[in-house]
Amino acid sequence: MTVPGRALAAAFLPFSYGMILMTAATVSSPDAHAETAATRPVLAIHGGAGVIRSTLTPEIEASVKADLRRALDAGYGVLEAGGSAVDAVARAVVALEDSPHFNAGKGAVFTHDGRNELDASIMDGSTRRAGAIAGVTRVRNPVLLARAVMERSPHVMLIGEGAEAFGRSIEGIDFVEPSYFHTDVRWRQLREAIEKEAQREPSAQGRAIHYGTVGAVALDARGRLAAATSTGGMTNKRWGRVGDSPIIGAGTYADARCAVSATGWGEFFIRAAVAHDICARVEYGRQALADAARTVIMETIPALGGDGGVIAIDAQGQVALPFNTDGMYRGWVDRDGRRHVAILADQR
Ligand code: ASP
Repeated sequence: MTVPGRALAAAFLPFSYGMILMTAATVSSPDAHAETAATRPVLAIHGGAGVIRSTLTPEIEASVKADLRRALDAGYGVLEAGGSAVDAVARAVVALEDSPHFNAGKGAVFTHDGRNELDASIMDGSTRRAGAIAGVTRVRNPVLLARAVMERSPHVMLIGEGAEAFGRSIEGIDFVEPSYFHTDVRWRQLREAIEKEAQREPSAQGRAIHYGTVGAVALDARGRLAAATSTGGMTNKRWGRVGDSPIIGAGTYADARCAVSATGWGEFFIRAAVAHDICARVEYGRQALADAARTVIMETIPALGGDGGVIAIDAQGQVALPFNTDGMYRGWVDRDGRRHVAILADQR
């Protein structure tokens, strides 16, 4: 096996909100078509694209990276043991949901009313089965409930109390008190967002709110792809707002060639059908995965006024991790089994 090549593309594009660094980190394998029968498994994870460079202390960085490594180990352990891509993304996302650093499960952001309303989705690329849940408040690991919707119900998406009632009938879905999800950091962020809103600061409405959604994409040894995403949504959300994360085709998508999990300002990711658009560009447009992902994140989303990033993987094990924010908490295990974790745009 040859050592995967890497490309870092960066460009400054002018937008009304100022100049932002656009960076796409991609990892590609020149011998992409060499292996088909026994594919080397590949895994990528993210913990959100809302990294703000000035607030990243060495202590936070070390602690976040440790949790990213734990999630990588959990997911990749499944793949190394011959497990499925669906099992791997579910395991990786559970580990990220259990970390208070990310906006999913423990550590989810608060709604305007001071609640934690959780959304998640999962898709199996080999069958194109999918499951999603939105607005649950008592399910410890929302990704597992999304998976149960996919595997144990005739439906794709369940919401709120109905989703929880379904979950109570499924063995292995843990229920917790809503207070389990509380962290002081997220509570402070809600207070700040409400204050900014009162002062009519536009940033209170979206950008600069800390995207910390988590997700995973995997290619297993049998060449199957899967994607999963889990989130608390956006700080100060109200009226039952649901973002892109549980929307199949927007925040999560997987088919036989491509798997994507997104993070960012969800309204824009829904409008651009981000995850499906990337996979459609790969399938219909025959675009390389890195080009497809870069175009959608660096051109389509900023042109609409949104921001964020994705992790994407194709059937040859190529990984693309573009984002148009300061950073994106991310990690991946490449086709040579090497682990990587990175946060800011200039880290690989
Ligand atoms: N995409 C998520 C949402 O809009 C937020 C995030 O990425 O953290 O709900």
